[in-house]
Amino acid sequence: MSIKEKMKEMGLSPDNLGFDPDELREKYHEEREKRMRPEGADQYIAAEGQFKYYVEDPYIQDVIERDPVSDETDVILIGGGFGTLITGARLREAGVKNIRIVDKAAEFGGAWYWNRYPNCGCDTESYIYLPLLEEVGYIPSAKYVGQPEIQQHCINIAKKYNLYDDVFFQTRVTELEWHEPDRRWIVRTNRGDAMRARYVVASTGPLNQPKLPGIPGIADYKGHTFHTSRWDYGYTGGSQSEKLDKLGDKRVAIIGTGATAIQAIPPLAESARELYVFQRTPSGVDARNDRPTDPDWAASLKPGWHKERVENFTAVTTGGKWDEDLVNDAWTDMWRERREFSRRARALNLSREEKHELAEITDFKKMERIRHRVDEIVKDPDVAASLKPYYHHQCKRPCVHDHYLEVYNRDNVHLVDTAGKGVERITEKGVVADGKEYEVDCIIFSTGYEFATQYTHRCGFDIVGVNGEHISEHWKDGMRTQFGICSHGFPNFFIIHWQQAGFSLNFAHTITEQAGHIAHILGRCLDEGVVRLELTREGEDAWVNELVSTTKFNRDFLESCTPGIFNNEGKLDEQAILNFTYGPGPMAYYKKLAEWREAGDMPGFEVTQE
Ligand code: NDP
Repeated sequence: MSIKEKMKEMGLSPDNLGFDPDELREKYHEEREKRMRPEGADQYIAAEGQFKYYVEDPYIQDVIERDPVSDETDVILIGGGFGTLITGARLREAGVKNIRIVDKAAEFGGAWYWNRYPNCGCDTESYIYLPLLEEVGYIPSAKYVGQPEIQQHCINIAKKYNLYDDVFFQTRVTELEWHEPDRRWIVRTNRGDAMRARYVVASTGPLNQPKLPGIPGIADYKGHTFHTSRWDYGYTGGSQSEKLDKLGDKRVAIIGTGATAIQAIPPLAESARELYVFQRTPSGVDARNDRPTDPDWAASLKPGWHKERVENFTAVTTGGKWDEDLVNDAWTDMWRERREFSRRARALNLSREEKHELAEITDFKKMERIRHRVDEIVKDPDVAASLKPYYHHQCKRPCVHDHYLEVYNRDNVHLVDTAGKGVERITEKGVVADGKEYEVDCIIFSTGYEFATQYTHRCGFDIVGVNGEHISEHWKDGMRTQFGICSHGFPNFFIIHWQQAGFSLNFAHTITEQAGHIAHILGRCLDEGVVRLELTREGEDAWVNELVSTTKFNRDFLESCTPGIFNNEGKLDEQAILNFTYGPGPMAYYKKLAEWREAGDMPGFEVTQE
């Protein structure tokens, strides 16, 4: 039986589906080709030098004054977001007292400190996204919650685990240097500190370096401008939940229509005199269906519920084992359907390629529903056509929002669809697309973050290890680690990050696993008097080889995707492959971490005791 006959047998012929998979595949390819750019990720410019003002902290109330510090600590944690909070909590649970946290921000929160744009919130279900819920004894107020509640949860974690006692805010790390004679790290900062630490954990976040598009003329603009990650409420007025009352007489442009813009555009539409949305690629925006937390449901939760729910979501969304889809939202519905089809297809004995095609059909169906949703909501058919995404569901960050598409029915909102080309130029007065200049009072860049660029550029400091080797040099052809966490030549140093790790759509899950793993290692080292723990070259090679040999799992998919951060803007060269994720996925990755811990003898490491 041919694949087409098998699909027909399952009721998946073009007539039943309402679309032709071959035609859609061709359409996706055409849309991808429109967007491929020879510069790849180099089309973006860093928010530094003359553009540094885009990343200055607009939220600091009082600048902290303090003298430089050169004391010694057992563990220094860099960053103030989820990674540090979870590691800090686990270290406290293990009885580690002597820790220090260093972050350039003025409060805990990490990404949830910086991102305060109007309507900012998390698209992932709060009951799985917020970490340490059972430990802190907190149930989020709704299925999806906003930035204030998420940041408050971060603050509550810090309070519960006494992390405020040991934090230096408004302090930016400038360099880490390994000092072999006494086996200590020297952590230098912009405050003149030279703090010494036995162990360092860098959790500097996956989306911490805002980027700007390298559009000609970007420096010429004379109006007001800022990046969504540093929202300028001084200019817009209002707050995250109130009308942006100073925009009533303003013409505002927003460039970008990714997950951030989807959330920020509705409040901008309500507040600005005119809003011009410059779109290169539309996001796929499904229904959010938010709802307040049911107190009876919350009261019914049994100890262990959080871990169970977190693991369930990752299993559902990676084709793992599960009985019930606990989260049951727009992130998981495609996977439920995919499993149902796989079950029905068992009797047909599908080959690997046929299984792949079946999975692709469920993806097409999901995206068709998203495209139909646009037609249902947006009245102008031309605008609706421009808002329809033509790529696979996870080529770009999937979005859920109940009010985004509606804004295009407003008279003051103008979608400037650049049909994959992007904004052409910026002038003193405004934005040019397709040869037309749009004069505006303000340009808001919602153009995202560096993602798979050089790690040291994103974290803002280099790491100088054994024999003065810089990690930027060690990783110049791509990252080299074990589990994305440690590197040969950089003893007693750990990273919490997505690169070379298993990537869950709920990134908080991966952070939780990594933080727990690292805290386990540190707890053991401190207990057992380990003064030096270094990944061997063989240990590093083993993980790199495994990563490269298993990359096929997702490489074909990523190569078929429209360009974006998930596929290095369409350029998946060998370096990009090393800088990306572990192909077999997050569940396999967490299992690897657990097996390593269970082995007990720290496989792949050279361990030196006192
Ligand atoms: P993205 O990188 O996703 O989006 C950048 C946008 O800018 C894209 O629409 C891109 O178009 C557009 N763009 C870039 N250059 C140009 C140009 N020259 N002309 C016109 N448009 C241009 O950034 P976001 O900040 O939206 O999202 C980043 C990440 O933040 C997400 O992937 C997600 O992980 C996270 N996030 C998480 C949320 C949550 O709920 N937890 C909420 C919001 C964000 P194109 O698509 O064509 O490249």
